[in-house]
Amino acid sequence: MDYFNYKNGKLFAENVSVDQIAEKVGTPVFIYSKATFMDHLQKINEAYSGLDTMICYSVKACGNVNILRFMADAGSGFDVVSGGELYRVLHAGGDASQVVYAGVGKTDTEIVEALDAGIGYFNIESEAEMENLIRLARQRGKQAKVALRVNPDVDYKTHAFTTTGRKETKFGVDIERAIKVFADYGENPAVNLCALHVHLGSGGKKIDPYVEAVEKILPLIDRLRGKGHTIEAIDLGGGYGADYESDTAPSAAEYAAGIVPLLKNKDVKLILEPGKSICANAGIMLTRVLYIKHGGSKKFVIADAGMNDLIRPSLYDAFHFIWPARVDEKFAAHKRTKDLKPEGAEIVDVVGPICEGADFFAKDRALPPTRRGDLLAIFTAGAYGFTMSSNYNARPRAAEVLVDDGKFCVISRREVYEDLISLER
Ligand SMILES: *Cc1c(COP(=O)(O)O)cnc(C)c1O
Repeated sequence: MDYFNYKNGKLFAENVSVDQIAEKVGTPVFIYSKATFMDHLQKINEAYSGLDTMICYSVKACGNVNILRFMADAGSGFDVVSGGELYRVLHAGGDASQVVYAGVGKTDTEIVEALDAGIGYFNIESEAEMENLIRLARQRGKQAKVALRVNPDVDYKTHAFTTTGRKETKFGVDIERAIKVFADYGENPAVNLCALHVHLGSGGKKIDPYVEAVEKILPLIDRLRGKGHTIEAIDLGGGYGADYESDTAPSAAEYAAGIVPLLKNKDVKLILEPGKSICANAGIMLTRVLYIKHGGSKKFVIADAGMNDLIRPSLYDAFHFIWPARVDEKFAAHKRTKDLKPEGAEIVDVVGPICEGADFFAKDRALPPTRRGDLLAIFTAGAYGFTMSSNYNARPRAAEVLVDDGKFCVISRREVYEDLISLER
């Protein structure tokens, strides 16, 4: 469920027509719906209310400080993967004790910043990293709370670049090694090693891998407790599905139905790190059609946004539903699916202006007839959209706009040429 809907052939973000935003702010522009963020967060909260649960929204998916601020106000914690993300969270007024920090390559500076901020858990991925954390914690006279990232060897059946839960990845340690890590560091006074972290990857649409992961972790918890270790929390990471097509991802309630019963009465706190399941369909990217071009048998719709603005199609071959912001009522897309091909639609490639063959948003896609000047909405662009954008081809980055009911506000101004060279003086 989200708050981007057609009314009389016009696309609205909540109660603001997106034309109006393009008019004021220009294109390309990311438009976010606050109500969609809140709706997802609330549904996750409700779904897991049977357990002591801490929700740590994953900053890397969509981390504008204004968004983090209202998430923090709504009680969300945060999952960060860098010092920069921690800085964002603290700047947004996030509660450091509700921050979990993952990542295989934390620098000394980043670790010290997180120690000083007093974050909730360091998610540690290797013995070498643990040694370094211990050294730095001692130096600062602090004790770090640690969750060990465990790799349950579950096949997530997603894109090779987004699977992280198999044995042969750079992430985490396997179950046998986890026992050894607890034996080696469980009594170390510089760290309070008291939790397990699992993050399977991103992109799955199934609940089973999570159930399987919990089923593999529970005996590990028993074994560790049997050896006298305290396990207060299990962090199940992120990767929960998002509706890139309408109603295709499992709901929070469906995930919870698989997970909560397994953890009930296990005396363990649950941590979740949802990213795209909260923000993906809370955002669209709006782009204006510059040109229509025919090449061979193909028709190209050339947009003013490029892979520097939204790289997911180029990087992961990701599907994004694309539709004009203003259509004849008969073309209004009330359900966003791969195979929506209304009578009268044309088959086109939607591409950007960048000098790369990979600069495309859609290939052989049905679209209502489009002309120069039309606005296209690229849906479900809230996650890994703006946060992965770059200045490639010296293109100023797009603006970000937040819609709240009938009002909208620029939450990140469009870059100007001066921004492009400001660090080079
Ligand atoms: C990226 C990431 C997430 C969020 O993933 P989504 O697919 O956006 O839910 C959560 N935890 C960790 C450790 C991550 O690296």
